[in-house]
Amino acid sequence: MATNNIVILGAGVSGLTTAFLLSKDPSNSITVVAKHMPGDYDIEYCSPWAGANYFPVGKPGSKHAEYEKATWPVLKELTEKYPDAGIHFQDAVTYSRKKDQQSTSGKWMSELVSEEPWYKDVVPNFRKVPVDQLPPGINNASRFQSVCINTAVYLPWLVSQSRKNGVVFKRGVFKHVADAANAHHSGNKADLVVNCTGLSSKFLGGVKDDKLMPARGQVVVVRNDSGIMASTSGTDDGEDELVYMMTRAAGGGTILGGCYQKNNWDPLPDPNLAIRIMKRAIEVRPELVGKGQGIEGLDVIRHGVGLRPLRDGGPRIEAENMNGLVVVHNYGHGGFGYQASYGCATAAVNLVNAALKKKDKAKL
Ligand code: FAD
Repeated sequence: MATNNIVILGAGVSGLTTAFLLSKDPSNSITVVAKHMPGDYDIEYCSPWAGANYFPVGKPGSKHAEYEKATWPVLKELTEKYPDAGIHFQDAVTYSRKKDQQSTSGKWMSELVSEEPWYKDVVPNFRKVPVDQLPPGINNASRFQSVCINTAVYLPWLVSQSRKNGVVFKRGVFKHVADAANAHHSGNKADLVVNCTGLSSKFLGGVKDDKLMPARGQVVVVRNDSGIMASTSGTDDGEDELVYMMTRAAGGGTILGGCYQKNNWDPLPDPNLAIRIMKRAIEVRPELVGKGQGIEGLDVIRHGVGLRPLRDGGPRIEAENMNGLVVVHNYGHGGFGYQASYGCATAAVNLVNAALKKKDKAKL
């Protein structure tokens, strides 16, 4: 018998993973309420735009790295046991150029492209590319096995798993985080709200987190198959541009990226950047197109833009008492919302459980 009324605000990967984990406990009665749901494509909704793969970027020893480390075994298990989740294994290669070390993209990618990253003992088959096999201009490169998530399959899969456990989904838009407590499907006020509103926490009443900023990502989705996933530390085209590509599971197409443009809110694809993205992808992976072909060999499905919810100091996973209402925050996951999703959601669930225990004690 469910006794804890919980509202989760937000239905991106953070809200849905938190809902999925919390719904495994039958004493939780959960409503997920959000402005956007899986199936929507909107600049205020980051999750559908992601690649998404597991390319760890957390600095060694940071909580961010811990969250990524904790997420790998779950993604691996989902890939092995749940083909309906829309995740598959893919070989990955990362390329590092020393000259990118001080650029925006180079700093973001520094751990991913490091010669001895912490995740070398986490992902299967990590190995360095021998020096005599490095492409021109590349100082070091590594290969390993990773996963690529088809977000158009995976987000609805999280919804369906949660619904099987009784979670109720509703649309709703709130000006203040505390107002979400009135959205529980029972009609009673929720005992607790989990705030998973991503970048919108910058403007949401009761939160208004100034540490949040967009890190704009532009992608081209194509029907061509890249065969492997690849990422570089940067390019010569701009200090916040880079090359990455990955082919999504289950016919999801191949994502070509990209950029990491901090404080850029532009929701429209920049056509010139799109051309650079396509050209660079073919330079790194000529196999994308037929022999001798350029970008005319790419079969474009769509151009897209997403705003990564970047937060100075890392994601906020924290409990707060707002005039008697407990709010647990789980937002600010930048470019790592999927690859850290289970680590972050588990931390949020632990805070929820601790708060509910306190509430139960107070009742005695
Ligand atoms: P969102 O997906 O933005 O969801 C926010 C939710 O809150 C939505 O449902 C929204 O409607 C709701 N909401 C907000 N405000 C309100 C309100 N006031 N009232 C009601 N509802 C509200 N990550 C990886 O791990 N691997 C990758 O390979 C990867 N690649 C990426 C590539 C690109 C191009 C981009 C843009 C991002 C990428 N990311 C990747 C990052 C990842 O997509 C994000 O970290 C993640 O989607 C953030 O999810 P979220 O649930 O926190 O926020």
